[in-house]
Amino acid sequence: MASLHGFSIEPWGSSKIGNFKVPGSSVSLTVRKEIAPILIGFCRDFHREVEPLRKGWCWGFNPKKIEGSNSWSNHAWGGAVDLNAPRHPMGKANTFTLGERAAIDRLLKKYTFKGQRLIRAGKDYSGRKDDMHFEINVSRSIALAAVAALGTATPVTAGSRTLRRGDKGADVKVLQSKLGIKADGDFGPDTEAKLKAKQKALGLEPDGVAGPKTWAKLGIK
Ligand SMILES: [Zn+2]
Repeated sequence: MASLHGFSIEPWGSSKIGNFKVPGSSVSLTVRKEIAPILIGFCRDFHREVEPLRKGWCWGFNPKKIEGSNSWSNHAWGGAVDLNAPRHPMGKANTFTLGERAAIDRLLKKYTFKGQRLIRAGKDYSGRKDDMHFEINVSRSIALAAVAALGTATPVTAGSRTLRRGDKGADVKVLQSKLGIKADGDFGPDTEAKLKAKQKALGLEPDGVAGPKTWAKLGIK
């Protein structure tokens, strides 16, 4: 099977790919579930600190080869996103202001694990620039270790993101304690079942996904 950075190239509809809302924005992106905390976290920060993300202008997973090449794109395993594409078209350099470039560089520096930059920006390509493009640029083992470290070292505030099966982190622990189950920080089938029951009891749609309405009903945020 073809792979990139140790991640398998996936077809449309793959269960390894998930759709994630970028917190604070109206944009949802499809990326590999395993690395979503890194990539969606970056997109959230981009939205806040670089420029607002526009709905319909951003995308992620796409099983394709790099334009004009026979190599797989990082989009093909769910490890890349294109942000505000019409404003930052491929092949056009310096579509960001100096201030925006500095803000992006700050974020790229923030997403570092053991001295390695986790994300590479298309604006920094040595050849054809691709300002809209951001990709995971480390091996799978490093990326997964970074995700695990993110979950504990920089906990997300409870209620600040939507939680679903497969998520990990300090906010999952908060949710679990609200549900009265063991708080191990790992959103598995038990957490999902308890959450559905709780949502039903609270008069919410029992979808097993903790979004803003569920957080509010649980008294968080
Ligand atoms: Zn791209």
